[in-house]
Amino acid sequence: MKFYPEQCKIKDERNVPFIDPDEIWDLINNTKSDKERVREVIAKSLNKQRLTLEETAVLINATDPELVEEIKNGAKELKKRIYGNRIVLFAPLYIGNKCTNNCRYCGFRASNKDAVRKTLEDLEIVKEVEALEDNGHKRLILVYGEHKEYNAEYIAHTTRLVYGVKKGNGEIRRVNINAAPLDIDGFRTVKEAGIGTYQIFQETYNPEAYKLYHLGGKKADYNWRLTAFDRAQEAGIDDVGLGALFGLYDWRFEVMGLVRHTNHLEACYNVGPHTISFPRIQDASMLDFEGRYRVSDEEFVKLVAILRLAVPYTGMILTARENPAVRREVMQYGVSQIDGGTKLELGSYSESENEMQDLNREQFLINDSRSLNEIIDELVGKDYLPSFCTACYRLGRTGEHFMEFSVPGFIKRYCSANAILTLAEYLIDYAPAATAEKGWKLIDEQIELLRGYQNVDEMRSRIERIKNGERDLYY
Ligand code: SAM
Ligand code: SF4
Repeated sequence: MKFYPEQCKIKDERNVPFIDPDEIWDLINNTKSDKERVREVIAKSLNKQRLTLEETAVLINATDPELVEEIKNGAKELKKRIYGNRIVLFAPLYIGNKCTNNCRYCGFRASNKDAVRKTLEDLEIVKEVEALEDNGHKRLILVYGEHKEYNAEYIAHTTRLVYGVKKGNGEIRRVNINAAPLDIDGFRTVKEAGIGTYQIFQETYNPEAYKLYHLGGKKADYNWRLTAFDRAQEAGIDDVGLGALFGLYDWRFEVMGLVRHTNHLEACYNVGPHTISFPRIQDASMLDFEGRYRVSDEEFVKLVAILRLAVPYTGMILTARENPAVRREVMQYGVSQIDGGTKLELGSYSESENEMQDLNREQFLINDSRSLNEIIDELVGKDYLPSFCTACYRLGRTGEHFMEFSVPGFIKRYCSANAILTLAEYLIDYAPAATAEKGWKLIDEQIELLRGYQNVDEMRSRIERIKNGERDLYY
């Protein structure tokens, strides 16, 4: 499959800002959305093509409940048909919350004198990672405030430190990063440390709203942030995670912004984003948020379904900011990754007491505090296939979501097979008996579905090898 660059008013060039708010509003305000057109657009996406900005606006402008239902069903179908029932699990690990910026929505902002500031010492990081490994995690995203202490060398150092922590059969096989934008040399430094995805959210794609919410520090520079992934690409990091913080500005504009960002990366680097995130604003210490653009649950479901259809080859991340009921509902419409057992307070994975959330110690409140096993147990019970797979990244198969999407049979041959092998490890090493029983039944059923794509007898013998103590067997 190849990309078809879209003609936008601002011509896409590397390291050059590309958002034209008038163009986006023009499309939202003037794109007609009748039944026929909505169906055409859904069909195009199901036919494995990314949508243009105009086509995304067609879906955004569909308000008839019957059409919205068709959009949701389209997203559900796309997920089922292309990605199947896998859900990849990860956890965030906050490394340090010192911050020189003043984002009005964030509890870590410099002006919040009540925030308890902390940077984990190396030994504390090791303890946290051991605790996460003891729960069964294999994939982490390290999170940092924006501060001179958290420069590229420090991010690289902490990444290496995390990869080096092994406890029992536990190890972290993929370290992703969410941190302030770097310059090209900085991105090179963190790439050398072996990071997976570099994730940065634009927060809002509207420059005026951006100015309103970012009151100082380096983050006030909208364009520096907007072009961060250009610099990452220049440094050889082609695995990047986009996102917008929903609630700062009109959700319709943000969805268009995310698609515009996607087509910019495609046009300049011939590679789209690895993941898209769509966090909604949550309560935070000193939260200073007008609420005018707050996104309702109904709008949230719709926007997730539209994003799924608009960029069908990209992974979609749904975090514990949302409560379990919303997570259950939204997951069907194309989410591929969720976090489990999440704790945001620095150092809290390795503490058993202090289960209460404390706003002065956390960036914001989460609404799903279930343990990783509670989440896995529920997923297995609902016939989702939990996965801790990290194979593509470690085998240098970059653009994995793109391959999943465009190479026939790729998912069954690699992704589902690896999901099963990593779930087997989890069931043996970490699951309580009740979860293990359900999990093995699911594995038995799922292996049979791989016939014709993967050598099922060999899969079964790999499972036996795992039962006999081998680990990390992947395709
Ligand atoms: N300091 C880095 C930065 O700003 O890029 C790291 C990001 S921050 C620790 C991770 C993300 O959390 C932010 O990009 C923002 O989208 C999100 N966030 C901040 N405050 C939030 C809140 N009150 N509710 C939900 N998400 C929030
Ligand atoms: Fe700092 Fe990031 Fe919070 Fe902004 S969102 S105040 S940059 S930690």
